[in-house]
Amino acid sequence: MNYNSTQNAAEVVSAAQAIAQGISKDGGLFVPQSFPQYDEATLRALLKEDYKGRAKKVFSDFLTDFTAEEIDECVEQAYTAAKFGGANPAPMAYTKLGGKALNVLELWHGPTCAFKDMALQILPHLLTKSLKKTCDGKDAVILVATSGDTGKAALEGFKDVEHTKIIVFYPVDGVSPMQKHQMNTQEGKNVTVCAIKGNFDDAQTGVKKIFTTPAISEQLAQNNMLFSSANSINWGRLLPQIVYYISAYCDMVNDGKLAFGDKMNVVVPTGNFGNILASYYAAQMGLPINKFICASNANNVLTDFINTGVYDKNRQFFTTTSPSMDILVSSNLERLLYKLCGNDDAVTREWMTALKTGGKYEVTDAVKEEITDKFFGGFCDDAQTKDTISRLFKEDGYLCDTHTAVAVNVYEQYVEATGDTTPAVIVSTASPYKFSKAVLQAVAPDAALPETEFDMVDMLNQVSGMPVPAPLAGLRDKQARFSDVTEADAMPQYVLSALGID
Ligand SMILES: *Cc1c(COP(=O)(O)O)cnc(C)c1O
Repeated sequence: MNYNSTQNAAEVVSAAQAIAQGISKDGGLFVPQSFPQYDEATLRALLKEDYKGRAKKVFSDFLTDFTAEEIDECVEQAYTAAKFGGANPAPMAYTKLGGKALNVLELWHGPTCAFKDMALQILPHLLTKSLKKTCDGKDAVILVATSGDTGKAALEGFKDVEHTKIIVFYPVDGVSPMQKHQMNTQEGKNVTVCAIKGNFDDAQTGVKKIFTTPAISEQLAQNNMLFSSANSINWGRLLPQIVYYISAYCDMVNDGKLAFGDKMNVVVPTGNFGNILASYYAAQMGLPINKFICASNANNVLTDFINTGVYDKNRQFFTTTSPSMDILVSSNLERLLYKLCGNDDAVTREWMTALKTGGKYEVTDAVKEEITDKFFGGFCDDAQTKDTISRLFKEDGYLCDTHTAVAVNVYEQYVEATGDTTPAVIVSTASPYKFSKAVLQAVAPDAALPETEFDMVDMLNQVSGMPVPAPLAGLRDKQARFSDVTEADAMPQYVLSALGID
């Protein structure tokens, strides 16, 4: 199976090349040229597999230039019970709200307590193998722009991985205290962390610019290095996310929540559109999904896009209690648009160029129709997020984080608007302990907030009785290693000097 760029269909690469390179030279994103088709028998066989077995099947169908042994190694090293606190790294939790069942897919049992671990625990293994196949002997420099969770998950995945270096940029005021502490205390010989003065989009634009500046790439090449990406524009980030939708379907069937063959809805708290796109790709493979419910916070650019067909990032940017979704440019939407316009690279390029120059584009009526047929877009603000956390905790004792609460709230709006009773999987993307302050304010509104992040963690633990994940508890006494802050414009220079090649 080969991959081509969304902005130049003639740019065709192998899976290993797509993963090693991260982004296409023309600035487009790599997409599979076709999707493996899972018929009833294939899906039925997966019912009997555990998560690793399901992952191996999906990986082998997309990474046709990897051997079965290589895929085995990657999967076995990534999804260990030790790292994910149990044999199933993506377990279902069944709760209820307003008397209605909520099927929650908990994706935050990994080492950094957010769903990014699902992809970033395996990406370093995929990447080092891809580099060996395509450009043996070179060191990969992983540049990451993060709204909080990707950075830590990438650092944890890549720390001390041979032949890699990783540099993470985050918006100085755009991440939670716990996220900042997680990143600034990161161990490992090959890691660098730096804050930028700006928001996530500034960080992401800065990283994209570095990737696509030939002079910088040339300078790396002279030093036997090359850039790669751990952001969700990398195919090696998206592919692992397809697996948990298939796995959730199987678990729901095995748990008697869904009849085999019946459709489910998915509800995804969305920022960069990677997670929800993976569910769409799973559906392309034959997984029975009815509706893709795209949940946003006050940065509701995707809600407006789904409802109008106009993508317009020229609007106020809000810093919310769900910071990992504080995004105005959802990079992975490009992959969906490419698919919906019939794999038309010229049209995709036109829209993406309009986005870059004017911050805005409008899709065709045909694409609009397909989007409203398959997707539902909704959003909620911080007050509604808080109210949702509170209600869910009061009604069923289930504690969720702010991002998951946005999904739950938008799901309620969807059911209200449509009356659709198709069983839905709500994707839960972070541990509530990553956002203790906002969660505490929801479940213990009358309590005086303690001053420090870790005292809030303790208090949330007392209020909820839910155990604090070990990786977060262990951070309390760690000293910060990183404190750099730079202007967004100075990112290229920062990278070169961090690599010692300026
Ligand atoms: C990254 C992230 C999201 C958004 O996921 P996308 O794939 O970027 O849409 C949502 N919630 C949390 C907790 C995240 O870390």
